[in-house]
Amino acid sequence: MRSGLHMLVLEITQKCNLQCHHCYASFGSGATLDEDAARRVLDEASEMGAKWVVLSGGEPLMLGEWPFELAEEVRRRGMVPVLETNGTLVREHNVALYRSFYSVQISLEGPRTINDAIRGEGTFEAALASVDYLVAGNIKVGIQAVVGPNNMSGIRELAALAREKGAFLGLERLLPLGRAANGAVATRHQLFEMIRLATEERLLCNDPLRYVLNEPIECLQTAGRLRGGCTAGVSGVCVSSDTTVFPCPKLRVPAGSLETQSLNSIWKDSTLFLRVRNRQRFGAPCGGCPYVAACGGCRAAAWAESGEVTGGDPQCFFRWR
Ligand code: SF4
Ligand code: SF4
Repeated sequence: MRSGLHMLVLEITQKCNLQCHHCYASFGSGATLDEDAARRVLDEASEMGAKWVVLSGGEPLMLGEWPFELAEEVRRRGMVPVLETNGTLVREHNVALYRSFYSVQISLEGPRTINDAIRGEGTFEAALASVDYLVAGNIKVGIQAVVGPNNMSGIRELAALAREKGAFLGLERLLPLGRAANGAVATRHQLFEMIRLATEERLLCNDPLRYVLNEPIECLQTAGRLRGGCTAGVSGVCVSSDTTVFPCPKLRVPAGSLETQSLNSIWKDSTLFLRVRNRQRFGAPCGGCPYVAACGGCRAAAWAESGEVTGGDPQCFFRWR
């Protein structure tokens, strides 16, 4: 895994019509990305060799049809657009418009009672109707769940529901950030269970610790050269609606701003990006871990716990292996 840009997450607005307890940045109101700035970021990302562009928010569909126009701009530059949405506004647009996207990712945190307690009354029904709407229109749909202690028990049922609906399910761990900053997050044991369940049920899960559980040991123990794991600042970058550049949407430590710098110069030269790529210098338990080149721990989890982007991943369960 070389440090070349592969995926850009573009947070096109901070506006959102929901107030989910799991939101990593307490989105709800705030800036919307300037259209010229968006085109400039896409130009640069394409020149840097990025393949994927995730249009995210806030809630992108609060911006009317602009996300669809932006998806076409992404395609014109040879990249692949994905839409992330809370699923409440999907049916306000003709289903044919969603063909601009490779896939549409809709957030759901579990079966109805669990989901609505986290995302708000009626959101389960609305999101599920949107899944049906898109699947009927032959659009590739993913359901994305952020897994913590309050929804772990419903994930197997959600996996069955996703299968029944013709959607794929992706899992990520809940971090103590944004509106979840003061709540309970997954214990090491629960994170282990989430990854085991993802493997058993063949779900998507890009958690770096999944590599540790699933890859042969000889592939994991490669000193020096990065082999996988956390993509923050390694193969992924996030540009927020005010053009601040972050290594990952959840790692909200600014690396620079596109108001004064180019994406390429931040990518190549920012001290923050250089630090998150230098895994041998991470704090315990990651620094010195035999699996650090293939995993690296979640940098956002480390930062949320210690305030240090190069700290150890506090949710690591590797000693159980
Ligand atoms: S100590 Fe860090 S790098 Fe090693 S397995 Fe755990 S999270 Fe991954
Ligand atoms: S910091 Fe955490 S959430 Fe962000 S890319 Fe790395 S593992 Fe994923």
